[in-house]
Amino acid sequence: MSKQKILVTGGFGFIGSNFIKMLNNKYEIFVIDSLTYAANLNNVDSDKVSKHFNVNISNEKALVDIFSEVHPDKVIHFAAESHVDRSISAPDTFIETNILGTYSLLKASLNYYDENKIRNFLFIHVSTDEVFGSLELGEKSFNENTQYKPNSPYSASKAASDHLVRSFNKTYKLPSTLLNCSNNFGPNQYEEKLIPLVINKALNRLKIPIYGNGEQIRDWIFVEDFCEAILMVLEKNMINEKFNIGANNEIRNIDLVEKICCILDEMEPLGEGKKYSNLIQFVEDRKGHDFRYSINSEKIRKNLDWKPNWNFNDALKFTIKHYLDKFEK
Ligand code: NAD
Repeated sequence: MSKQKILVTGGFGFIGSNFIKMLNNKYEIFVIDSLTYAANLNNVDSDKVSKHFNVNISNEKALVDIFSEVHPDKVIHFAAESHVDRSISAPDTFIETNILGTYSLLKASLNYYDENKIRNFLFIHVSTDEVFGSLELGEKSFNENTQYKPNSPYSASKAASDHLVRSFNKTYKLPSTLLNCSNNFGPNQYEEKLIPLVINKALNRLKIPIYGNGEQIRDWIFVEDFCEAILMVLEKNMINEKFNIGANNEIRNIDLVEKICCILDEMEPLGEGKKYSNLIQFVEDRKGHDFRYSINSEKIRKNLDWKPNWNFNDALKFTIKHYLDKFEK
């Protein structure tokens, strides 16, 4: 049987690389990644990828050529600018990549799909729960029908890309599905993101910055669990769908950071009774900081029988061990 060809954008970033790791040899993998600061070629075993196109997803002409060369069965769209702080200080690339880049990719996908009428073609758009805005304590978790209320340039650009995907699906019948996931953690995440940042600062004995009072709540999922969900959507060919994905792990930032410090106290003791939590320092809050995210993932649990396999504490320990092993003392 011939292999299914999967075109992965952003495959050398955090989630994309974990997804590629999960794909077995039933699939032939092609990657479009322009290798921004967030990418790392070492995130992926070179023998897993048939070809890497070092191309910006805003380059529609190059995308059209890639589609004719690869002839993909599925497109999984991870490529994005993904860091909220950078979107606040320099939003331009977020508009260019997340909105215009997604638009170019959709046009190239549609052009290819219309010309070739590939059976079971599917465009999976990987997006975030941040498009729904912020919740107060006690407010209901986001479900697939929650109104979009993005607050940061990052979440606004992702919301715009979600709407473009929806419009190509509704108007031009491009077979697509939209996934909105909560905060991921695990190996290969660029160190500006909260969990690797805290681990790196702690191991370097530097101050661990926490925005504001640290009471903001995030809903965490281990990256393998999210990738399993994407794989299920792909294998069951769930076209014209929208799923929220999360693992019911809401925790305040300060509690998460203290948890990481406690695990490090055990794994890499500072000695002389010192504690990593002494390095915690509260700093000026992020502008427009969303207070709480919370995902209701009942739909994908019920319809696809997906559930997270990892317990939060085990996944956190696994992740900390991963960064500890890579840390050069
Ligand atoms: P990441 O920043 O780690 O990786 C992004 C990848 O995209 C990098 O390899 C980068 O080189 C590539 N890329 C960026 N701009 C590009 C361009 N113009 N052309 C080609 N390649 C480009 O991001 P991530 O954390 O792996 O997130 C992947 C996707 O998942 C994003 O769409 C993000 O919005 C979404 N998401 C992330 C999270 C999370 O917690 N990390 C949660 C929900 C959804």
